[in-house]
Amino acid sequence: MKTLSNLVMMSAISVVVFGCAPNGKDKEKELEKFITAHVQKIKPMEKETNLAWWDAAVSGKTEDYDKVSKLTLKIRRVYSDTEEFAFLKEMKESGQIQDAALTRQLQVLYNAYMRNQIEPELLKEIVDLGTEIEKNFSTFRGTIEGAKVTDNEIKEILKTETDSTRREQAWLASKQVGVEVADDIIRLVKLRNKAARKLGFDNYHTMSLTTGEQNVEELDRIFNELYELTNKPFVVLKADLDSTLSAKYVVAVKDLMPWHYHDPFFQETPMVYELDLDTYYKDKDVRELGASFYAGIGLGVESVLANSDLYEREGKNPHAFCTDIDKEGDVRVLCNLKNNEAWMETLLHELGHAVYNKYCEQTVPHHLREPAHAFTTEAIAMFFGRLSRNPAWMQQMLKLSNEQRVEIEKVSGKYAQLKQLIFARWAMVMYNFEKQLYANPEQDLNSLWWQMVSKYQLVRKPTGRNEPDWAAKIHFAVAPCYYHNYMLGELFASQLHHYIVQNILKLESDDNVSYVGQGKAGKFLAKNVFEAGNLYHWNEMIERATGEPLTPKYFVSQFVE
Ligand SMILES: [Zn+2]
Repeated sequence: MKTLSNLVMMSAISVVVFGCAPNGKDKEKELEKFITAHVQKIKPMEKETNLAWWDAAVSGKTEDYDKVSKLTLKIRRVYSDTEEFAFLKEMKESGQIQDAALTRQLQVLYNAYMRNQIEPELLKEIVDLGTEIEKNFSTFRGTIEGAKVTDNEIKEILKTETDSTRREQAWLASKQVGVEVADDIIRLVKLRNKAARKLGFDNYHTMSLTTGEQNVEELDRIFNELYELTNKPFVVLKADLDSTLSAKYVVAVKDLMPWHYHDPFFQETPMVYELDLDTYYKDKDVRELGASFYAGIGLGVESVLANSDLYEREGKNPHAFCTDIDKEGDVRVLCNLKNNEAWMETLLHELGHAVYNKYCEQTVPHHLREPAHAFTTEAIAMFFGRLSRNPAWMQQMLKLSNEQRVEIEKVSGKYAQLKQLIFARWAMVMYNFEKQLYANPEQDLNSLWWQMVSKYQLVRKPTGRNEPDWAAKIHFAVAPCYYHNYMLGELFASQLHHYIVQNILKLESDDNVSYVGQGKAGKFLAKNVFEAGNLYHWNEMIERATGEPLTPKYFVSQFVE
């Protein structure tokens, strides 16, 4: 909330500028009326859609998925209404909406309408082409010496094969889909840009960021700082990794190629440092561990778990997610739990999303009763998900001996560092390439991609290669202008961790921090992050919670230094 003196100042100014205050109050009343009617209309539609989506994920039935599409379209139609958008625009431009919560609702609604103002015909073209590309991605199979291979087979070869020629073949196979879809993706980028320009934006990237309350300058600043801060440590870590890989594949360091890095995009850590945590989890019950951990920090999740669908079943969505059905307490997670480390992480992650929604105050207006941003809820999920590999957490939750903890500590720190640094450098490629892709889709994208890869990931381009390797990344087609949010989530998770350790738990270092039984930490998160929902712009929320806006500093101090 703004302070009282601020409010007085602002209304004084509004009197001077607009001449009469009652007019402003009329506008506010008008807007309130609009919002009340809108909530009445949209609330049941949202709930019905969320339930249908849940049913589809659990059953896997085509008719259930069809129902979701129909309902989603119905909601989209509400937000594409041009008259209502014009009304909101006029409200915004009038400058007469003064009340803080009302201003915030206006902004959120305005963005939601703005995103859906693309002309129906153009939108249909965009959606159809996107679906077509997605289908190509899911049905295309690369080939090795004429034989088709699945993505899993490619990954397996890149993980285990020691012969460099076989590795190269697998890597090349992973890129073949790029050739298949590249022209369509460029066409899609141009269509998206056309839509964005009609709405007054430079290009689609700018429009996506703006309607998501982000902007290029701000993201550039954050990503540049992260680049500078990780540069030297990444060179050291990469050199260490290269010498390990060089020995493993009997290839000189200067001859290491993209196919020597296990993941086709080098977005994940090559599995060269032994770390098998599954043995510690195999006799435990991850559901029980999740429930008792969250209860211990005062953010009970029993009601969430009771509504959830946690175990594998035929036809069920094999992944995991969290959904807030009604913004009134029915929060659920879908998982396919097994008693291993990966599912422990996933459950802690999804329950992190769940507590963010569950502990948002019911007094917050409907449209603001959600996380401040997609990346802020991702941050909370990551904050808790990271614990499944934290030696202190594992020792307390799994009742491990000191010797076992020492065993884990031997590799877990290094592994976490590698994982985070490698991901950060990869996220820089994605962010910077995508920005330029939308700024000028006509440029030599094949070269641009390898410039980015060599600059940020220090991976060399195979001699003479000129193929659309970038296009093999499905996200450009199906989840445009979103990838950077994963990185921002990691940054905010570290910023919260640092703040809580220093100022709430009042500790010098985070060496022994497990958060187990730390009600103070749970209370801090509920009070400073969850309760207000989206009442404040994400960066204002972060500043209120931690005393400074989003910064890469603490991610760097946690994982890099
Ligand atoms: Zn998540």
